[in-house]
Amino acid sequence: MKTTDVIIIGAGAAGLMCAIEAGKRGRRVLVLDHANKVGKKILMSGGGRCNFTNYHVNPECYISHNQHFHKSALSRYLPLHFIELVKKHRIPFHEKTLGQLFCDNKSQDIVDMLLHECQQAKVSIRLNTSITSITQKSAYHYIVQSENQTFACESLVIATGGLSIPTMGASPFGYKIAEQFGLPVWPTRAGLVPLTLHAEDKAHLAILSGISVNSTVSSIRRDFHENILFTHRGLSGPAILQISSYWQPGEELVIDLLPTLDMITLLKTIQKKRPQILVKNFLAEHLPKNVVGKLIDVDLAEYSLSALSHKHIAILAAQLHQWTIKPNGTEGYRTAEVTLGGVDCNALSSKTMEANTAPGLYFIGEVVDVTGWLGGYNFQWAWASGWAAGQVV
Ligand SMILES: Cc1cc2nc3c(=O)[nH]c(=O)nc-3n(C[C@H](O)[C@H](O)[C@H](O)COP(=O)(O)OP(=O)(O)OC[C@H]3O[C@@H](n4cnc5c(N)ncnc54)[C@H](O)[C@@H]3O)c2cc1C
Repeated sequence: MKTTDVIIIGAGAAGLMCAIEAGKRGRRVLVLDHANKVGKKILMSGGGRCNFTNYHVNPECYISHNQHFHKSALSRYLPLHFIELVKKHRIPFHEKTLGQLFCDNKSQDIVDMLLHECQQAKVSIRLNTSITSITQKSAYHYIVQSENQTFACESLVIATGGLSIPTMGASPFGYKIAEQFGLPVWPTRAGLVPLTLHAEDKAHLAILSGISVNSTVSSIRRDFHENILFTHRGLSGPAILQISSYWQPGEELVIDLLPTLDMITLLKTIQKKRPQILVKNFLAEHLPKNVVGKLIDVDLAEYSLSALSHKHIAILAAQLHQWTIKPNGTEGYRTAEVTLGGVDCNALSSKTMEANTAPGLYFIGEVVDVTGWLGGYNFQWAWASGWAAGQVV
């Protein structure tokens, strides 16, 4: 049997950060992962350039059944702490938009940085290792059984992430361990995921596939102002991915396709200035022609502005500012960036991430019921929760 101080299961963002911090404290750390590479999700993140944090991280940008839990870890490990690490390793980066920080080159830079830090902290990493069982002998004494070896440790950290992208090694392992130790787990669902449409809407909007429109998308819970993208299966783009984490099956979304304009005032003004212009031609100055063709009333589209009554103007404004659509579902874990739900925060210490009822057992990262917005927020949670546990394991 191999005995060590800390075992971390999952060599992703949270697990590696925790390993570095614990290793720096002089703890003997072993990281186990069933994948053949560390940080696969880091590698594929941010379109290959890893959106590793966000200047505007704040607790409001996270979804959880406990809206206070994540505050402690996020307030102790800030975006600037990760930025310092990135700068120390001379990794070039830039702000893309809305405070989102991306590598200039590739995500591999972040993985290399974490691996280098692990090496400095004398962390051991074993890949291609499947865990067959975990047992608790007593407080601070855990036995981890892999297919061909037995390990013992004082602190056991579960950092196995969520269910999104199963082909990248995602597994329900963490939720199962939580259940084994009696910790409640909130039901999971795909988040930051494209939405699909009912067959009729899909057929009607098929011609718009590939078109992107700067919009405000609202659900009954939130709204987001960013681009939406029409796809051959439904809707995607940053505003849709964001709202998908708040959307519940059966609900409608209201989309303002011209959020920076007041169509009623504008149409009335232009009616006087350019009375002969056709509605469709005028609107095509503000929106892609096909979007106008598909989303406004076909008859009104052919009117000249001079022929529009107040009622017509109100109808057009509603069609453009409050386009209402009921998605059919989501693309699911196959393409989702995150998993909502997970290990109940109320069963963990917000300071250390330790399970209240299992001394020495910790849950960090996406496996916990904390899900961030699109834009570097999920990595910041992984770093912050990994850091928090790393101080105590
Ligand atoms: C396509 C995509 C792009 C993304 N882009 C961004 C982005 O740019 N910015 C951002 O903030 N977030 C992004 N995310 C989300 C982000 O990747 C995750 O929130 C983050 O990786 C979670 O970190 P984690 O350490 O908790 O889990 P993970 O990084 O998923 O790591 C979990 C690790 O556990 C291992 N594991 C799982 N099951 C087992 C098991 N049974 N036994 C042993 N090991 C196991 C896995 O192999 C993996 O290495 C993206 C996600 C996806 C899918």
